[in-house]
Amino acid sequence: MANSIRRYEGRHAVITGGASGIGFRTAERIVSEGGTVSLWDMDATKIDEAKAALGASSHGVRLDVSDPDQVDKATQETVSTFGKIDVLICSAGITGPNAKVADYPIDQWKRVFDINLHGLFYCNRFVVPVMQKNGYGRIVNVASIAGKEGNPNASAYSASKAAVIGLTKSLGKELVGDGITVNAITPATVDTPILQQLKPEFIDYMLSKIPMQRFGKVEELASLITWIASEECSFTTGAVFDISGGRATY
Ligand code: NAD
Repeated sequence: MANSIRRYEGRHAVITGGASGIGFRTAERIVSEGGTVSLWDMDATKIDEAKAALGASSHGVRLDVSDPDQVDKATQETVSTFGKIDVLICSAGITGPNAKVADYPIDQWKRVFDINLHGLFYCNRFVVPVMQKNGYGRIVNVASIAGKEGNPNASAYSASKAAVIGLTKSLGKELVGDGITVNAITPATVDTPILQQLKPEFIDYMLSKIPMQRFGKVEELASLITWIASEECSFTTGAVFDISGGRATY
């Protein structure tokens, strides 16, 4: 897809969860602006579909971000293929089940944290030294409005996303002076395949909380992310960007 805006010429972006939803639409936009992308995702079928749609500017890596060895290996492979990583967008995530805290299955609580928080930490941890070598980097961690407000019956998800916000604020400050910015976004509900993991009444609840009375669109997410992940966004780090149709006013 051609685009007259070319903010990503010569840039290589790693996008976790890049084969679907918000990550995929962001990959599409980066490629349309002249960049190349590595899609780090655990779904082989979706990776193949995404690569077919994005063409030669995309590269697929099948991995589970909750395994630090796989993240380390993917980082090394990406650097040996593309020479650098300019941009890291951490979009891989799961919702976990809808259940009250007293009923929450402990193994699923841990799985939500393993992917949403620990997996994101591993990606930040292994990619930061690559960016430091180049003196340039943009990291965007996809959190959620749930991490600011806490959604009922989604405690693991809400807590893991609150932790992503804390990690982002901490790392942003650590890297000031290295040419690397680290920011988070906190979307309200966006219509993507992740909604299939939720109960219909929970989705209705989340819609009822959005003053604009509609879900976000992946295009709107990609637009915000590709600005934060570009050179243009140079005076903001450790920050949290709202994209919630008016739900968050802080
Ligand atoms: P999605 O399900 O369309 O995409 C998520 C992708 O992550 C999938 O391709 C999946 O295969 C991949 N993934 C899941 N676990 C993985 C793992 N362990 N290792 C590697 N890849 C893995 O969902 P989406 O809506 O695009 O969600 C992207 C991010 O946005 C998630 O972190 C989600 O929590 C966050 N978010 C989504 C919404 C929403 O309403 N859609 C709202 C707020 C935040």
